Amino acid sequence: MSTLPNERLDGRVALVTGAARGMGAAHASTLAARGADLLLIDLDEAELTALAAQLRENTGVRVVTLSADITAPGAAETFAATAVDQLGGLDILVHNAGIMHDFKTLEQTDAAALRPYFEVNVLAPYAITRAALGALRASKSPRVIFISSSWGQVPDGHSYGYMISKAAQLSMMRALAKELVAEGILVNAVTPGAVATRMIPDEVYAEELAAVPLGRLADPLEIAASVAFLASDQASFITGQTLNVNGGALIVGV
Ligand code: NAD
Repeated sequence: MSTLPNERLDGRVALVTGAARGMGAAHASTLAARGADLLLIDLDEAELTALAAQLRENTGVRVVTLSADITAPGAAETFAATAVDQLGGLDILVHNAGIMHDFKTLEQTDAAALRPYFEVNVLAPYAITRAALGALRASKSPRVIFISSSWGQVPDGHSYGYMISKAAQLSMMRALAKELVAEGILVNAVTPGAVATRMIPDEVYAEELAAVPLGRLADPLEIAASVAFLASDQASFITGQTLNVNGGALIVGV
């Protein structure tokens, strides 16, 4: 490598799920600011359309939106085909869409209640990665990035569907990294601690805040910066890793 790797993403195409608000919108803004064209996916069409218009105007990148449920049959194949047909390929896949933890105990949670968490957090990212494999193989700098959670590393003692599915994401990330490293496809995860988004309802704000040694919730852009780093050439020798962006949570002894 004759020059220092830089952070720019010009000419690359990024797909972000759950992009309409919160962290997904922050990933979209940060990747666009670094020059990436975007395929943004979310259930919420109105917020997605407004964000896309704003990003086109502010950054000049190409932005395609799809209002879709990532768990719908055939959705994964539609996403991959849209990236290739409308944006010319796919370089960066950000598995961000997730559903909220429910703060319920074992007795309050029957097994069926775990199903939606696995569909959104595990099965959909699996299907999307599988459908995108051809496009990722054709990329010069292919990346897959999971937004897991620190609750997937150390359980919070409730929210079973959330905890277990977020841990499963990390396991899937490592399995994919191992299989795909020979093809140069780099797969990593970011594990945020508590982040100021709508996922954190007011009634659990104090509990979430208490779990952050830095004493505040993260701004979504602080998580997006790590995603943009993993997407860039600066992270060209990193795969199978988990980047903990949690304000000091999980430091042994804290
Ligand atoms: P959020 O609830 O603000 O946004 C999630 C987005 O995903 C929404 O726009 C929603 O419409 C979309 N979405 C949900 N299910 C979908 C589906 N089936 N198909 C398409 N879109 C769907 O949440 P956030 O806080 O921005 O969370 C983003 C990611 O970060 C999630 O995976 C979450 O688990 C993770 N996370 C959040 C926190 C936190 O404190 N907020 C902490 C750790 C990890």
